[in-house]
Amino acid sequence: MSKTLRLILGDQLNSQHSWFEEQDSSTTYLMLEMRQETDYVPHHIQKVIAFFLSMRNFAKDLETKGHQVIYISLDAKDNSQNLEEMINSFVEKDNFDQFEYQLPDEYRLDEQLKTIGKNLGIPCRGVDSEHFLTEREYVKDSFQGKKTFVMESFYRQMRKDFNILMDGKEPLQGKWNFDHENRFALKDKRLLRKAKKHPKDISEILEIVQKAEVKTIGKIDENAFDWPCSREESIEVLDHFCEHLLVHFGDYQDALTTWDPFLFHSRLSFALNTKMLGPLEVVQKVEAYWKEHQDEIDISQAEGFIRQILGWREYMRGIYWAKMPDFANMNFFNHQRKLPEWFWTGDTKMKCLSHSIGQSLELAYAHHIQRLMVIGNFALLAGIHPDEVDQWYLGVYIDAIEWVEITNTRGMSQFADGGIVGTKPYVSSANYIHKMGNYCSHCAYSHTKKVGEGACPFNSLYWHFYDRNREKLENNPRIGMAYRTLDKLKNKEELMNQAEEYLKNLDAL
Ligand SMILES: Cc1cc2nc3c(=O)[nH]c(=O)nc-3n(C[C@H](O)[C@H](O)[C@H](O)COP(=O)(O)OP(=O)(O)OC[C@H]3O[C@@H](n4cnc5c(N)ncnc54)[C@H](O)[C@@H]3O)c2cc1C
Ligand code: SF4
Repeated sequence: MSKTLRLILGDQLNSQHSWFEEQDSSTTYLMLEMRQETDYVPHHIQKVIAFFLSMRNFAKDLETKGHQVIYISLDAKDNSQNLEEMINSFVEKDNFDQFEYQLPDEYRLDEQLKTIGKNLGIPCRGVDSEHFLTEREYVKDSFQGKKTFVMESFYRQMRKDFNILMDGKEPLQGKWNFDHENRFALKDKRLLRKAKKHPKDISEILEIVQKAEVKTIGKIDENAFDWPCSREESIEVLDHFCEHLLVHFGDYQDALTTWDPFLFHSRLSFALNTKMLGPLEVVQKVEAYWKEHQDEIDISQAEGFIRQILGWREYMRGIYWAKMPDFANMNFFNHQRKLPEWFWTGDTKMKCLSHSIGQSLELAYAHHIQRLMVIGNFALLAGIHPDEVDQWYLGVYIDAIEWVEITNTRGMSQFADGGIVGTKPYVSSANYIHKMGNYCSHCAYSHTKKVGEGACPFNSLYWHFYDRNREKLENNPRIGMAYRTLDKLKNKEELMNQAEEYLKNLDAL
């Protein structure tokens, strides 16, 4: 009888995959906790724990359903910590005559598994992970020959293809996008809801990771570890989102506040990126919930959420496969600075950054606008090398896997791709941060001051960024206005000097 060994990676916890439709005594699943995954960048401790715990729960679930599983823990004696060696040894020991794996989402692992497959000496097959709604090459093929890959046209096509928020061939309520109806600052604390809690015992896995001296960043509280680490918990988080948070999602998706780290965001990214939940089931559940509760929930809340998953998430994955491996080396502005030390402590006088970075280190989470318009905005204005920025983002967030991290960080946030993901850099002065929340009112700097003692660094760095990149940006039709304003500034020289001073002393800000 032919025997098949099937590898399951840590972000392939998709219990709905056709692999698991039938139990088959000739098939064995292999799951490995590996140092190559804990060590390719220093990760947040909560991220390492969440991955291993979710993998363990997934393996147990498979066994309960009657599948054969080999699970090798990080500290197992026979864990050589070498993926190729491990696969080879199981193939030899148990006489497997076929090896299969689900296509990885990361370029790094894709290349590694192709090589392992070639050297293995038995037939080897990569199959679809059955998670995404589009093929790896879909974005590349759809935009063949075009310079920019516009997300909005991709998103509209996805709405039609999957019949989401549609009325025949037209968008429901006549509009594709309700973005302009969203985006308020949160003024009333009473709107906030309590997060869904998932208390669980993480002591065993935490001890293993600590004993192995895995180098990690950030904090963990054993008694308050709260990420969903199974499909059941993930579904509960999704239900909680529909019942309590969807009603205000769109309105406050861009809000910045010290009151609450999660606001009305779903906290579903880890469950989605490990494939414990599928994107279509999330989108369809939210659509159905909205349809049943149209009296209370405006379509703009549901559309705003659905666009993130049906649009941005799929689109970013498509860009990744269209542009890797070159994407990982892009540095359009040739930025070279190192990240200030306070990225690892949150210890800066700038409240927006101390809060957003502090929260990231504490919870392995920041919401989109904290990542984009606070932390990323600062890194771009300060001219930090995109490699440094990528490494930090890839390590710190619970949901950071390269395909979705790098496209957002190097692409959307740092514009290091020169305009593949976005049509212009996401930069702002203190104005925007002040408008969207309460950080500035707790800050040592003054958001209205541009130069002199206590002037907010974002103000002078903003104009310095445009000034030093004039050659690269001035002809961009979406930016011309900024240059006209810059050229009319009466105190331009003072502003540039102020920015230079700050750039020389980033660690002291
Ligand atoms: C600089 C930067 C780095 C980022 N790095 C990551 C990352 O490593 N991993 C990651 O999953 N997301 C990343 N994002 C996108 C987004 O910030 C997170 O998906 C979101 O904050 C996760 O929290 P949530 O689940 O509460 O999201 P919600 O606000 O509730 O949104 C719902 C879902 O939409 C999806 N989504 C939203 N925005 C995006 C986006 N721009 N790209 C892809 N999917 C999106 C996510 O799956 C998310 O769970 C990054 C964004 C920026 C600006
Ligand atoms: S004043 Fe400037 S540094 Fe302080 S919170 Fe506002 S934007 Fe951030």
